[in-house]
Amino acid sequence: MDLSFTPVEEAFREEVRAFFRDKLPARLSTLVREGKRLRKSDMEEWHAILNERGWLANHWPEQWGGPGWSVIQRFIFDNESALAHAPRVVPFGVNMLGPVLIKYGSEEQKKQWLPRILDGSDWWCQGYSEPGAGSDLAGLKTTAVRKGDVYVVNGQKTWTTLGQHADMIFCLVRTDATAKKQEGISFLLIDMKSPGIEVRPITLIDGEQEVNEVFFTDVEVPVANLVGEENMGWTYAKYLLTYERTNIAGVGFSIASFERLKEVAQMQKKGGRSLADDPLFAARMARVEIDLANMQTTNLRVLAAVAGGGAPGAESSMLKIKGTEIRQEITSLTRRAYGSYAAPYIPEALEAGWNGEDVGPEDAAMAAPSYFNNRKLSIFGGSNEIQKNIISKAILGL
Ligand SMILES: Cc1cc2nc3c(=O)[nH]c(=O)nc-3n(C[C@H](O)[C@H](O)[C@H](O)COP(=O)(O)OP(=O)(O)OC[C@H]3O[C@@H](n4cnc5c(N)ncnc54)[C@H](O)[C@@H]3O)c2cc1C
Repeated sequence: MDLSFTPVEEAFREEVRAFFRDKLPARLSTLVREGKRLRKSDMEEWHAILNERGWLANHWPEQWGGPGWSVIQRFIFDNESALAHAPRVVPFGVNMLGPVLIKYGSEEQKKQWLPRILDGSDWWCQGYSEPGAGSDLAGLKTTAVRKGDVYVVNGQKTWTTLGQHADMIFCLVRTDATAKKQEGISFLLIDMKSPGIEVRPITLIDGEQEVNEVFFTDVEVPVANLVGEENMGWTYAKYLLTYERTNIAGVGFSIASFERLKEVAQMQKKGGRSLADDPLFAARMARVEIDLANMQTTNLRVLAAVAGGGAPGAESSMLKIKGTEIRQEITSLTRRAYGSYAAPYIPEALEAGWNGEDVGPEDAAMAAPSYFNNRKLSIFGGSNEIQKNIISKAILGL
């Protein structure tokens, strides 16, 4: 299989590199490279720069503001983006809701919501999980009862990433309690400023407040905010999840952080030998490098399937499992490579401008928080165990 790029694709890569060189603010790339905290305004700033160039929603059809790229172009862009240490595109509007609206939304909904995702008018969050409905997502209990022109929503969502910043939330709600559980779910778009919504932060193991609980008490949602048909939400939810999983695999992030790991492993020499010379450590690094090369091929295969008109299927589960295992292994090896420098946990180190000279190399203090934070990767978007169930079902048909 020839995986080298054509001259046209290489020229595109150069164009992308030039864009990052010229347009990616050094302040933002430094924050990302050093693993510092990004504020909402930082993420919005980068979205606006990408949108101005027409590259924000690079997998959307041109009709709705996409650039009309091939899968290879998207692959190149994602990798170059990670290598340039660009902030990630916040996925909820662009990568999750966008494809669902494009496939299942009404014309009015597309016209209303898609431009607002692109220009940053609406910051979206994802209201799928509930206490008691994570892996068993179809068991969700938040209800939406139709009363005239509105649905009245009651219940609770949890683990809502960046919900504290959100203008809107896309939610799975139960609209038929009598049907088989997958057949009584609908997909609703809810204004976070609606009376009856309360957001409470959850503090994660790295000390950050990245996720929230969201409570709904008699929240009125216009019927016009129902996506597709009532009780068909499970179909749309699954479609969205395949995009979410492919996104979580994050091959580009792994490439960039593996490059950094190699530098760190070479850095600390004791008795003339670096950690990279240690056979056990070197073997773990080699394993990651091989897996990463294989991942790139699989990623291209999944993207090619999408280009052929399909949604990514069980392959997105494969990508999710392997991609997240690689990302977690890299954070684990990086933490080990920094040794005692990675031991202190210093929340202030996440702030831009923090002077870390006393604690060792510039990003050493970030190694532990990053290791802790990345434990989430094998849980969210459907845990890796659930992905294995999906793959078994696809192969064995059980
Ligand atoms: C940092 C973070 C951010 C998140 N962001 C969002 C968000 O923005 N929006 C949102 O809706 N959700 C979000 N989630 C929720 C996430 O999707 C769920 O945590 C995930 O689906 C797992 O559900 P659970 O936490 O209820 O665990 P459970 O479902 O209770 O699972 C517990 C353990 O049991 C295992 N398990 C459960 N069932 C099976 C089975 N049938 N076979 C084998 N093993 C099984 C699981 O793999 C897991 O190890 C986020 C989660 C985290 C940690």
